Amino acid sequence: MTEVRTQRRLEFRDVAQGKALGARLAHAVERAGRVVTLMHVCGSHEQAMARYGLRPSFPKDLHVQMGPGCPVCVTDAPEIDACIALAAKGLRVLTYGDMLRVPGRAMSLDGARAAGARVDVVYGATQVVQIARRTKEPVVFFATGFETTAVATAALLLDDPPDNLAVFSAHKWVPAAMEVVAETPDSRIEGFLAAGHAATITGFGIFESFVARHRLPVVVGGFEPLDILSALVLLVEQVAAGEAKVENAFPRCVTREGNRRALAALERVFDMADGEWRGIARIPSGNLRLRPEFARWDATVRYAAELAAAPPFEERANASDCVCGKIMSGIAQPDDCALFGKACLPAAPVGACMVSSEGACRIWHEHGLGLR
Ligand code: SF4
Repeated sequence: MTEVRTQRRLEFRDVAQGKALGARLAHAVERAGRVVTLMHVCGSHEQAMARYGLRPSFPKDLHVQMGPGCPVCVTDAPEIDACIALAAKGLRVLTYGDMLRVPGRAMSLDGARAAGARVDVVYGATQVVQIARRTKEPVVFFATGFETTAVATAALLLDDPPDNLAVFSAHKWVPAAMEVVAETPDSRIEGFLAAGHAATITGFGIFESFVARHRLPVVVGGFEPLDILSALVLLVEQVAAGEAKVENAFPRCVTREGNRRALAALERVFDMADGEWRGIARIPSGNLRLRPEFARWDATVRYAAELAAAPPFEERANASDCVCGKIMSGIAQPDDCALFGKACLPAAPVGACMVSSEGACRIWHEHGLGLR
C-alpha cells in the first residue's frame, strides 16, 4: 500500500512532464506579452513551491505573490491577547503548535507560558475534547485556521462537547479575503490559485460568483509540483486569452459541490462576521463566530467579564516595521522588509509571517530565498 502511494506521489513529480508544463507556462506568459501577476492563497502552496524549487524556474515575467493564506499569520494580535488574558486568569488554554510563538501586541502565548500561564499544544480537535473530559477543569480551545480546521471545530461542537470546554473561535474564511484583494485599488493580481485542500470542503463552485463579479480567473490546485504547474498554466492561459473562469486542476480530490456534510456542519455552527485579519484589513464576513445556539461553549460569552477587564497591551518594539500585512495583500515580498533575515529571524520573529511554517517570510528564509 505504501509503495502504491509513493508511486502515485512520484507521478506528480515527473521531471519530463514538469519540463513540458514549464515550457507551456513560458509560452503562455509570452503570449500575454507583459508581466502577469498571480496570487495564491495558501501557505502550503508557498511551501511546495519552495521545497520543489519551482520559483526560480518561473518565467521572469510571471510574478506569483503569496496572499492571505497563512492562518497563523492572519490571526489578529488582539485575538492572541485575549487568550493570553484568559490564560493569565488561570484558565488552561489549548491551541495548535504554530500559534504558540506568534506575537500578540505585548507577548506570545509561549511568553505567557514562560511566565507561568497554562498553555498547551494540541494536534487536533479530538484531543481538545479528550483533555477536557479527562481533567474536568475549565479549558479554553483557541481555535484558529481556515475552512479545513474550522470543520474540525464544528464537528467538535456538534458532538456533545463537555461543559467545562469553551471555544475561542479565531477561524477565518479565505474567500472573503480574496474579495478584499480583488477590490483593492491598483491591485495587480490577475488571477488566483486556490487551495486544493480547502476546496475539497467548499467545492470549486464557490468561486463562480467571485469570478463573475471580478472578471478574475480562479484555478484550484493541489500541492505536488505538477499540480501547481498545471494550475499556473491554466491561469496564465486564461489571462493571455482575456478569459475569466473557474477551473479545477485538482480533480482527483476536488468536486464542484465539495463536501456537503462538512459544509452543513460549518453552517450549523458558525456565522460569518466582519473581522480584522492581522495587518491586512477588516474583512467583511471574514471571521467565523459561533452561532448563538453554541453560546454555552463560546469563550467570548462565557468569559466576557474577564476579557473586558483585561488590561490593555503595549505594542512591542519593531512591531510597526513589520510588513506582513502588505505581503499577504500581495503588494510586497518578504525581502521588501528591512528586518527580513536581520532583526527578524525564525529563532527571533518580529512578525507572524516569520513564525509559522506556512508564513511567507519563514518559508523564504528557510529556503534561502530573497536573502542578501
Ligand atoms: Fe514581518 Fe519579519 Fe516578515 Fe518583516 S521579515 S514582514 S518583520 S515577519
